[in-house]
Amino acid sequence: MTSTEPVPAEPSAAGEESASYHVWVDESTCIGSGSCVRLATGAFVMDDDRGVAVVGDVSAVEERRLIAAERVCPTGAIHLERLERSSL
Ligand code: SF4
Repeated sequence: MTSTEPVPAEPSAAGEESASYHVWVDESTCIGSGSCVRLATGAFVMDDDRGVAVVGDVSAVEERRLIAAERVCPTGAIHLERLERSSL
């Protein structure tokens, strides 16, 4: 491979972590509307073969966009679980 294009993060069905959240998509309820992909491009990626969104690189967008994507998802398929970080 001679391309100098950056390699995108591998989309993950298990989810990914931003600074504050573990983010995952419940593929059994995703209807592939694409709202999350438009709102938080890069953090959510369409798997065109399966017609569902998967988590990409959540660090690619501001967390407010992750939260907005969760709110606009028509089926509640996006889950943001706040991470408990130790301050020790
Ligand atoms: S907004 Fe929800 S239903 Fe639409 S593609 Fe994203 S996860 Fe799936």
